Amino acid sequence: MAGWTGAAQAPQGPGKSPYAPALGACDVEQVLDYVAEFQDLPSEIRPAARLEFSSALRALVDQWIDSGKSDGTEEAWKRNIKWQPPNGQKPIVETLSDYGRRNPPHAETRDDGRFDIWMLPAPSASKSPLRRARDMALYHFVCLLDYPRRERLSRCDECGTYFFRSRAPRKDTPIYHGTFCDRCKNKGGAKRTVDSRSRQTKEKIGWASDCWPKWMKWKGLRSAWVAEQVNRRVVRHPICWGTVTGKWVTRHEQD
Ligand SMILES: [Zn+2]
Repeated sequence: MAGWTGAAQAPQGPGKSPYAPALGACDVEQVLDYVAEFQDLPSEIRPAARLEFSSALRALVDQWIDSGKSDGTEEAWKRNIKWQPPNGQKPIVETLSDYGRRNPPHAETRDDGRFDIWMLPAPSASKSPLRRARDMALYHFVCLLDYPRRERLSRCDECGTYFFRSRAPRKDTPIYHGTFCDRCKNKGGAKRTVDSRSRQTKEKIGWASDCWPKWMKWKGLRSAWVAEQVNRRVVRHPICWGTVTGKWVTRHEQD
């Protein structure tokens, strides 16, 4: 029960579940306030804290989902927190161990002798509201990792929406040609995959032609330098975008 295994077990008991009050709320901001425990924050700080919380959680979830994707193929079961993202971000495992050092696990014995262990952010570790918002995001991400059906969580390659599959992806069946939400899937099947690929290529060619004239001799081989500039923008997109090489630049020079 040590480490992260019990992380999702928030303190039980009347009124202690962080989700219970949120269920009746229909306003997203209200839900976020409950989930991330921002109710007590001064109202002028809340919007920034909400934004910090949601972007930190999104970045973690994206990194985790991307760890199971390569070259347009997704294998949710291969998602791996030790994965090193190509944009130089640190692997999730390092982010989690930093969090664990700042917020060591807490254990409480129930009346029946069972233990509850959780790793909620320690109030002393995060005095700054934004820091606490980031830590709450990490805490909820850890809860997600602890959730038995976590592999069902997917992100649409077309519109970026997150969705839950009604069935778990099969272990021996990778998903080829992209992952799409129902709305995008209905828009045009295989054609849409091709469209999405060519849209990405078009976008990359646009970036390449933006920086093509900015090249100067001292910057080295032109195609390699242009590829490097394109990749700087590629890494801000989901992993399915794929980086380019100098050869790719040469191939699309006329485009
Ligand atoms: Zn979609």
